[in-house]
Amino acid sequence: KKRNPGQTEFIQAVQEVAQDIFEFIEDKEEYHQAQILRRIAEPDRVVSFRVCWEDDNHNIRVQRGWRVQNNNAIGPYKGGIRFHSSVNESVLKFLAFEQTFKNSLTGLPMGGGKGGSNFNPKGKSDSEVMRFCQSFMTELYRHIGPDTDVPAGDIGVGGREIGYMFGQYKRITNRWEGVLTGKAIEYGGSQMRPEATGYGAVYFLRNMLSHKDDDIEGKTAVISGAGNVATHAAEMIAKLGGKVVTLSDSGGFIHDPDGIDQEKIDWVKELKNKRRGRISEYADHFTNATFHDGKRPWNVECDLALPCATQNELNEDEAKALVDNGCIAVSEGANMPTTLEGVKVFHDAKIMYGPGKAANAGGVAVSGLEMSQNAERISWNQDRLGDMLTELMEGIHGKCVEYGDQGDGYVDYVKGANIAGFKKVADAMLAFGVV
Ligand code: NDP
Repeated sequence: KKRNPGQTEFIQAVQEVAQDIFEFIEDKEEYHQAQILRRIAEPDRVVSFRVCWEDDNHNIRVQRGWRVQNNNAIGPYKGGIRFHSSVNESVLKFLAFEQTFKNSLTGLPMGGGKGGSNFNPKGKSDSEVMRFCQSFMTELYRHIGPDTDVPAGDIGVGGREIGYMFGQYKRITNRWEGVLTGKAIEYGGSQMRPEATGYGAVYFLRNMLSHKDDDIEGKTAVISGAGNVATHAAEMIAKLGGKVVTLSDSGGFIHDPDGIDQEKIDWVKELKNKRRGRISEYADHFTNATFHDGKRPWNVECDLALPCATQNELNEDEAKALVDNGCIAVSEGANMPTTLEGVKVFHDAKIMYGPGKAANAGGVAVSGLEMSQNAERISWNQDRLGDMLTELMEGIHGKCVEYGDQGDGYVDYVKGANIAGFKKVADAMLAFGVV
């Protein structure tokens, strides 16, 4: 806390990991001696820069941009860029720290990073977003590269923003290279990338359930968010025979007791990606649904919960409500959506709980595959990538069980993910000596 004053999200993320790691390294002198955990929890580099752009009314706007390069022991820094008014250094440091463990868990050679800006894309015109993205990249380009640091999308950064940033990188450097992932198919993007995080979170959920001889069919799921991750998670739950009854955004949540099927999900995608509207409009269009202004969906009865919006969106009381209402499994599409107190409730109740760093790793895993395809100048088809995603999620689940099985039939997925993710990075760092 003394080293990182006021950085609450970052301290929360480190604390959560440190407990498990201390236990694991207790009798492993080499990790202690080399101060490995302290070294992973101190970003290699935090680049902070001014982003200046002109809005449609010719006002000059000034924002801050960051790139946190946390650790590149096992591969180039890799992690998304977030544009949201809540972005600050603490949030990006927590995300880059988590990303290091997540990327390690995928088994692919990727280090951990994260970046973004406090720019709020809501209500901005396409040209304003373009000018902002170009200005952001005009500084960022000198810190990234296909073998150095490969950013991707995150909250507020989707296909449109990646396109503007990639275009600017190419213009400045005169190089077409796989420096960003999440690109459109026409210019080097990967099949399955848009779906990968949401689908992957559902595959992880399916793996947790099948470990207990159960499955998704016939179960009711509550999902938060209405963005990339939430809509694709909803899509896969529906495909596997489950019934999704909620979605949300920062304005509130909608409850549709009839279930949100593929047709309704397509309507939400159009609402969010094309019209850039609010989820409240869902209840005007599908009249059996209700909108709950300013509320989150965790009090709705369900078997399965998938928080897919943002960090700290599910607190202790909401976790208790889920458990009391009979929820048996939680799979996190978002990063750190459950508070530390909320996680304790899930552990105490011994329900299945898949933390974001394991459950949502499908997105970055397919980003890793996008890097491989770009390097080989090749593109694989949807079926092949779908199979690879399924296998990657099975592998991640297997590693969590290996290190998180408590011996009484209960799997502590947080512990499993933390230890498995840590071990690979730590062993690489040991091999490098003191650097
Ligand atoms: P999007 O921008 O597509 O969607 C984000 C959704 O979350 C929107 O519905 C947004 O509502 C809502 N939201 C954002 N901030 C808040 C807030 N403070 N309170 C309530 N709701 C909020 O982002 P993604 O779907 O890509 O990302 C969602 C989560 O998944 C994030 O935690 C991200 O880090 C994580 N993630 C994403 C990956 C990816 O591949 N995209 C990979 C791994 C993790 P509104 O429109 O009102 O802001």
